[in-house]
Amino acid sequence: MSDSPDLPSVVERFLRYVRIDTQSDRDSKTHPSTERQKDLSRLLAEELRGLGLGDAEMDGYGYVYATLPATLPEEEAAATPVLALLAHVDTAQDEPGGPVKPLIHASYDGSSITLPGAPSVALDPARSPALLDHLGHDLISSDGTTLLGSDDKAGCAVIMQLVEDLLAEPSIPRPPVRICFTVDEEIGCGVDKLDLERLGADVAYTVDGSGTGTLSYETFNAAQAVVEVAGVNVHPGYAKDVMANATTILAGILSQLPADESPETTEDREGYFCALEVSGSIPLARSKVLLRDFTAEGLEGRKRRLAELVADARQANPRATIELEVADQYKNMKSYIEATDPRVVSFAFAAAEELGIQLEAELVRGGTDGSKLSEMGLPTPNVFNGGHDYHSRFEWNTVQNLEASLVYLKQLVRYWAEHGRQGRP
Ligand SMILES: [Zn+2]
Repeated sequence: MSDSPDLPSVVERFLRYVRIDTQSDRDSKTHPSTERQKDLSRLLAEELRGLGLGDAEMDGYGYVYATLPATLPEEEAAATPVLALLAHVDTAQDEPGGPVKPLIHASYDGSSITLPGAPSVALDPARSPALLDHLGHDLISSDGTTLLGSDDKAGCAVIMQLVEDLLAEPSIPRPPVRICFTVDEEIGCGVDKLDLERLGADVAYTVDGSGTGTLSYETFNAAQAVVEVAGVNVHPGYAKDVMANATTILAGILSQLPADESPETTEDREGYFCALEVSGSIPLARSKVLLRDFTAEGLEGRKRRLAELVADARQANPRATIELEVADQYKNMKSYIEATDPRVVSFAFAAAEELGIQLEAELVRGGTDGSKLSEMGLPTPNVFNGGHDYHSRFEWNTVQNLEASLVYLKQLVRYWAEHGRQGRP
C-alpha cells in the first residue's frame, strides 16, 4: 500500500519529511555539518509561516525558531512557564540516508515482512520483538535500501501537526509555546549553535524518544580517566632489575577492571568501566578509561576504585611513574532537572495519566541533547515519537504510534496551561 488520501495529516507530513535527505556528517567542520539539513529546516519554517506563525524563521545554522502564542488570558499566560518543543531534522550516518521511499504495511499480522530493497533481512519479530506489540497497526518502513529517518522526522511531523491542530482549536488552553527544530543531533552537536536566549523557554521537551509511552529524564553521570605510565627503557637482554615496562604495567591495571562492570556485561541501571583506547611502548603507555554510573556516589566510587588500582601498581612498580587524571564529562540530567523545574517530569507523568496511559521512564545510557540543555539551565526530558530500531534500514514507526505521540503532546501542552502557574519555582 502506498500513500492514500485518507491518511491522518500527521502521517502525510511524516511521509513528506522523510523523503528529504537530511543526513548529518561527523567529519564535516561546517555548521550545519551538511547543507541538505536546511532543505527540511527551510520547509518547516515556511510551513509554520503558512500556518500563521509569523515569526517562524530559519537561522544561518539551520535552526528553526517559532512562537505558538498562548490562548490563556494575558495575565495567566505571563505567569505560566514558556514551554519549548524540540525535534531534530538530521538523520544518522550509519546507513544510507536517501532517497527514502517510505512504505506502509497495513494491518500488521505478526509475520516477517521482507522489504523489497533488502531481501536478505526483514522486519522480523525475531529481530525486533516490539513488532508483536503492534499487531493491527499500519507499519511504516523504508524500502530497505535506506534508513527511514523516523529519528527524528517523527518528532518534526508530530510537532508540526500539533501546531496546526492547536491553531484550529483555540478553545484548548495553552501556554506560550516555542517551537524549535535543531540540526546535527546525530553527530553530538545538536545544541552547539542553539541560541538559548532566542529560544526563550523555561521548560522544554525533545520529541525524540523511541516507542510509545516512554519518557527519558535520566542519563549517566560520566567521567573520563587518563592513566599514563612512564617506564624505564633499557636493552631487554640486560633489563633485570632495571627496566620498568610501561605497557605491561598498564595492562596489569586495566586487567583488574571488573569484567562484570563493562559495557558488554551491563544494562539498565548498572554502571561500568570502559577502556576506550590504549597505546603503549616500553617507555610510555597510556589509556583512556570511561567511568559511567547513574548515581553521583556510584561514580565517585568508580573513581576511588581506579585510584586504588593505580596506587597498588605504583607500589608494585617503584621504578615507573604512574599518573592518573580524572575529569567529569556530564552529570545525570535528573540532577539538573531537580535543581530547576522538576515539574517537567511530574507533569509529563500526570498528563499521561489523564489519558489513561502509564508512562514508562526509560534510562539513557549515554548523553542526549536534552541532557546538555538541562545542564545549560533548560530542563528538557525526552518524550516518545513512536519510532523503533533507530539508525538502521529496518527502522519503523506506525500510523497509530504517530497519532499516539500527537495526542500525548496535546495533553501535555494543555496540562502546562492548566497547572503551570501553581508552584512555579
Ligand atoms: Zn534522534
